[in-house]
Amino acid sequence: PAEPPKVEDIHNIIKNEETVKGNAEKLEFQAETRMLLDIVAKSLYSESEIFVRELISNASDALEKFRYLSKTGENLTEASRPLEIHLATDKQSRTFTIQDTGVGMTRDEMIENLGTIAKSGTKAFLEKVKEARSTDPNSMIGQFGVGFYSSFMVANKVDVYSKSSQENAPGYKWTSDGSGTYELQEADGVKEGTKIVLHLKTDHRQFSDEETVLSIIKKYSNFVGNPIFLNGQQI
Ligand code: ADP
Ligand code: MG
Repeated sequence: PAEPPKVEDIHNIIKNEETVKGNAEKLEFQAETRMLLDIVAKSLYSESEIFVRELISNASDALEKFRYLSKTGENLTEASRPLEIHLATDKQSRTFTIQDTGVGMTRDEMIENLGTIAKSGTKAFLEKVKEARSTDPNSMIGQFGVGFYSSFMVANKVDVYSKSSQENAPGYKWTSDGSGTYELQEADGVKEGTKIVLHLKTDHRQFSDEETVLSIIKKYSNFVGNPIFLNGQQI
């Protein structure tokens, strides 16, 4: 078996600096997504920490997809990298970061997966909100789950760096403040997989605190089959 990566290398995974190149493309969210983001961003849902569970579950899915592809002869090998989830907190810059070494996304997949609503649970959530205008959407966020978009409950800007495990796919940076549009730009230095940086709202700064995040991860990590690290320490 391969040796486990050194702590310094793990820090390097997450600290890796990406540099954008060329011009950023400005794209509009699909109307339904805009509506959802508007609700999520204004939400006063008290259990906002569920975004951690959503992002870990997406990272875990991405690792499983990579594992599956590597077994079905897509010219990928599991041995080529450790399949892990890394989280990092930074109080100074008030950020929460999650990175996985999973399948990643191509440019088109980022547009499709992060700009539109395909997920049935999220669609159902929107339907409920539309049909029951008077009902408090806050209580429904937890009930239905809003996946990746839950990031915007706690962050006023979200950066997603992704590089698909497809051969020769370039890396991309997706960024949005959760209002009507997002920007997409090619970037160098993006590791295969996905890294998501949440720039936290001032009143959600607690998610840049290591102890706080550790206790949240511990609630969910039992159900995750992949190793999780927080600031370089395996949990
Ligand atoms: P769901 O997980 O139910 O599909 P989400 O809103 O959580 O819905 O995520 C939307 C989609 O974005 C996912 O289906 C996946 O295609 C893509 N995605 C999100 N996070 C990642 C990630 N870390 N790696 C690769 N793809 C991702
Ligand atoms: Mg999900």
